[in-house]
Amino acid sequence: MAKGIVIGGGLAGLSTSVYLAKKGIKVTLLEASPKMGGRTYSFNQNDTMIDNGQHILMGCYDYTFDFLNEINAIDTIEFQNNLKVVFVESGGKFSELNAEKFFYPLNLFFGIMKYSSLRFRDRLLIIKLMLKLPLIDLKSLRNKTVEEWLIEEGQSKNTINNLWSILAIGTLNSELNVASAEIFCRILKTIFFTGNKSTKIVLPKVGLSQVFCDNAKECLANKNGEIKCSEKVTGIKIANNIVKKIETNVENYSEFDFVVSCIPAHSLEKIFENFEDNFEYEYSPIVTAHLWLDENPFIERFYGLIDSKIHWLFNNNSHLSLITSSANELVNLDNNKIFQIMCSELENYFPIFYRNLVKDYKVIKEKRATFLPTIEYSKRRLNIYSSIKNLYFAGDWTNNELPATIESAIKSGRVAADKVISDFIIN
Ligand SMILES: Cc1cc2nc3c(=O)[nH]c(=O)nc-3n(C[C@H](O)[C@H](O)[C@H](O)COP(=O)(O)OP(=O)(O)OC[C@H]3O[C@@H](n4cnc5c(N)ncnc54)[C@H](O)[C@@H]3O)c2cc1C
Repeated sequence: MAKGIVIGGGLAGLSTSVYLAKKGIKVTLLEASPKMGGRTYSFNQNDTMIDNGQHILMGCYDYTFDFLNEINAIDTIEFQNNLKVVFVESGGKFSELNAEKFFYPLNLFFGIMKYSSLRFRDRLLIIKLMLKLPLIDLKSLRNKTVEEWLIEEGQSKNTINNLWSILAIGTLNSELNVASAEIFCRILKTIFFTGNKSTKIVLPKVGLSQVFCDNAKECLANKNGEIKCSEKVTGIKIANNIVKKIETNVENYSEFDFVVSCIPAHSLEKIFENFEDNFEYEYSPIVTAHLWLDENPFIERFYGLIDSKIHWLFNNNSHLSLITSSANELVNLDNNKIFQIMCSELENYFPIFYRNLVKDYKVIKEKRATFLPTIEYSKRRLNIYSSIKNLYFAGDWTNNELPATIESAIKSGRVAADKVISDFIIN
């Protein structure tokens, strides 16, 4: 039986391990922290399970759904019946982007035509670009930012502000003048033109750790896998172009056929002497504020806020989760200041809200939430296959064509596992 080490117990590491174990490969998963899940985890606060940040999945996350089926956790997520987002403007004006259930893809165009936050002319501009999307050659966007591309496509300030930037900041966690148009356009094509299911928003019904980790751990244990938490890899030792030894703060390992590294670039460069990439990896923060209220006046499951410091409000019944992506302005402020700013925004956008309703709050800052999908970065992502014979790489930042998301982490793990399987089982 082939035997391997997987480094990092985030979603990439879990995905790699589960798919390897399923093929009868003996996996030892080494995770530095005491918990699994990496950047997706939940914990108990005020008798509520809260996430380190509300995660949104899209109906096009095929690798993720396959993984959840594999670990028997597909019931922990919930699909929208059809794409529906309620947007709010300052002063409390609501407008819906609502694509009815039937007549895909026409339903999308009807949805846009009814999106009242934009003038008629702006809605036509969006439709014009949507119609063009399937024909766009992604290579032609390689050297453009999202902003440059949208302006070149004749999009107005309003369409950029009230739709495209919300989509771009939400999916790329980056400002438009920085993010690669190629990666954004690929996402738009996938979301809007690979079936009605792809357009739906999918939300976890329970905490992220329950969705992604609990069953995965059980599944691994049942398949002879081993998980070692609080065990940090400190060195990957190579000789004759083969990984010979993995050193950790607990013990050294040399009895293995292969190693899959599923840790972020900034962790990898500390432990891997052959990491010759001198690219400066940049990260983008996300700030989340969870609010517990005396009474909850919100009706919808979630809202998108136009032109606000808060991008999304999720109504989790027991508590609200307020999300700011690309949160460079907020991330260095103290928690109370962030809370006050968020309350002021809520009061501006929702006349039903006033800050005295808040019983308690918790601010979570993820400084390195995702990598910045710049033009340069998109061209230089590390390949899953390495030049070292028995070493593979996975993780949201590796070359999997997607921005840093749950889907990219799980996809990269699946692709790395498939490559290991073809190298060590078939050959
Ligand atoms: C607040 C927030 C909100 C987000 N929202 C969304 C969203 O709405 N939708 C979406 O799709 N994605 C979202 N993401 C992105 C998504 O969470 C990540 O892309 C994904 O979880 C990355 O998984 P990963 O396995 O590649 O990396 P990680 O989760 O970073 O996992 C790497 C693991 O390796 C471990 N490790 C590091 N160094 C070592 C070492 N030396 N030895 C052993 N272990 C080590 C770490 O402890 C960690 O557990 C969000 C992220 C954050 C932070």
